[in-house]
Amino acid sequence: MTVFLSPSFQYNTLPSRTIRQSYLPGKFSIPSPNLIKGTDHIEFGKEANPTYQRILGRYSQGNPGPLVFVISGLHGNERAGFHAFDQLIKKLEASHVKFKGEIVGLSGNLAALNAKTDKPMRFLDVDMNRVFKPELIAKAEKMKASGKTHLLRKEEIEMLDLLETIHSMQQSHRQKWPESQTFVLDLHSTSASGAPLMLPFKSMLHKWLPATSITDKHDLDPHPKMNRGYLNDYLNLALPNCQAAVFEGGGHDGENTAKNMEAALWVLLAKSKSISALNLPTFALVNALKEQLKGRPKEVKVIDHIAINYPRGYKSIRKFESNLEKVKPNELIAMDGFREIRIPDIAGKDLYALMPNLQDKHNIKAGDDVVFLAESTGEKFGEQDLVADLAEPALLPDYAPAVRNLKAGKLQDTLKA
Ligand SMILES: [Zn+2]
Repeated sequence: MTVFLSPSFQYNTLPSRTIRQSYLPGKFSIPSPNLIKGTDHIEFGKEANPTYQRILGRYSQGNPGPLVFVISGLHGNERAGFHAFDQLIKKLEASHVKFKGEIVGLSGNLAALNAKTDKPMRFLDVDMNRVFKPELIAKAEKMKASGKTHLLRKEEIEMLDLLETIHSMQQSHRQKWPESQTFVLDLHSTSASGAPLMLPFKSMLHKWLPATSITDKHDLDPHPKMNRGYLNDYLNLALPNCQAAVFEGGGHDGENTAKNMEAALWVLLAKSKSISALNLPTFALVNALKEQLKGRPKEVKVIDHIAINYPRGYKSIRKFESNLEKVKPNELIAMDGFREIRIPDIAGKDLYALMPNLQDKHNIKAGDDVVFLAESTGEKFGEQDLVADLAEPALLPDYAPAVRNLKAGKLQDTLKA
């Protein structure tokens, strides 16, 4: 694959890292105690409850293949990813399907996840998905090397530990299987509900995964820089042979959110050839996700970021319910203290408000985005996509009756089969 690097940034600017022997790939299945007990009815991080761990679980049958990282809880209040990964590993173990490469579940912001607070914390000192900038990483690594870790912000310490785990595991994997690719799906949820969104950045993952893909101005820059501080931007540019994307599965507490994330993971495993096919229950899960996408744009381009200056005086006027809603030019959407926040007066475009900020008050800080303004590039998800994608031989080679039903247009029969 092509790796895009800014002229000022090269792999060799990364400090060399020693490989932990315990990360060498082989045949294993290590669900952490978190996963054995399930994450749906345990409140981790609370007093007397188990704490989240960096490595949630690993699964491999020792066959050469890609390395797939699943990251959950980079924002400490977004926890559906833990459940999705848990379900995925349990089904892999129960199915005895041939698996190539390795899949690893990682926790993001352990400090926030394990904070002993009444309400789940998105972050403690700084948004963790804004700190992955080369200069911040270099500074934090220098501080750590000189024993001044206590001067770092909590999320910078988390950042260093997460990156060390990722680099180390990838090095071990590629030492044994040098040609292998790395895929990273960074699982998030939105404060508003709705169908999945994704930020593919330089990866090609939007060609594979079912979600409305969001591109930003700087995605189109031929020499993109890691100026947003997103983990997936950093990994796409700095980790060799890696494709990383953010997948927003739905609302924080949405009933489909964890299922959508799991469906995306199964599609990723099939497309990356970690598994050769989806089975019917998984196929149904993917189809349920696709049903939610019907009528939504396939791709939107961010044209403006609108930020909050006065969190204490912030009041939303337009009652957003979904993470992607059509808006009108000049529409008043919120008050930021005495400042009116309006959609810019641009006519003739298919405009959407993306990911409106409906976080709890305690999770809103000055500088946070109120909403992203985006423009649809035209194409929408339709009935055709549901059938066409699902009938792809790569996803369904072993299920002839299902494929036959699909071709005859009997989608519902297929799901009941
Ligand atoms: Zn998030």
